[in-house]
Amino acid sequence: MTRTLLEAKSEVERRIAEACRRAGRQPEDVNVIAVTKYVSLSRTESVLRSGLLHIGENRWQDAKEKWEALGEKGLGIWHFIGHLQTNKVKEVVGRFHMLHSLDRMSLAKEVDKRASQLGVTLPCFVQVNVSGEDSKYGLPPEELFLFLEELQALRHIEAVGLMTMAPHEDDPERTRPVFRELRRLRDTANENGSCRKPLMHLSMGMSNDFEIAVEEGATWVRLGSVLVGKEE
Ligand SMILES: *Cc1c(COP(=O)(O)O)cnc(C)c1O
Repeated sequence: MTRTLLEAKSEVERRIAEACRRAGRQPEDVNVIAVTKYVSLSRTESVLRSGLLHIGENRWQDAKEKWEALGEKGLGIWHFIGHLQTNKVKEVVGRFHMLHSLDRMSLAKEVDKRASQLGVTLPCFVQVNVSGEDSKYGLPPEELFLFLEELQALRHIEAVGLMTMAPHEDDPERTRPVFRELRRLRDTANENGSCRKPLMHLSMGMSNDFEIAVEEGATWVRLGSVLVGKEE
């Protein structure tokens, strides 16, 4: 494995630990997903050898080769983090361990149907478009609570938390209100009893803004360029 990957990993871990200290949180409560969408199979193998366990991919077409070489053999825990087209559900359910981008009922029904055929339950994050940018996927916040209640009927989906993507900001501090709002929505959903089980998780924070997300309560950060780097 390349030295730079180990260096990047320890640097990221140090930055997460410092953000936790600022927020009075425990670093063990923050899980890192290494986003390998920009890199090759061999770099993804190095990622797993470095001790990182969680792999994030955002398109099945790009993930296929890596999943078949690694995931199929039981290596890694696989997170589908990108927009999921309904016609790709059959590829993703049964292969990936978690879905971070559940954002519409038509998708939820397909996922539930496929998981039911396979006899599995898929842990899912509901993606919320907190910032309201047109370019972002995710449910509008005002539709979240009804969506979560409807989700309860789908027995092969387990809602575990909420996910969002903040707008890119040159000053990451400006992303804070987005992350804070996602946490507020999660807490409100739990107070309302919108889900079968309380939502424990927040999937938020990328290379540019993960320290702010950790300060605001992220339990999963999704890191590509800062951790795994980019190839091609
Ligand atoms: C690509 C991607 C990431 C990682 O992006 P970086 O900025 O490189 O860390 C995280 N989440 C999602 C949904 C992505 O598509």
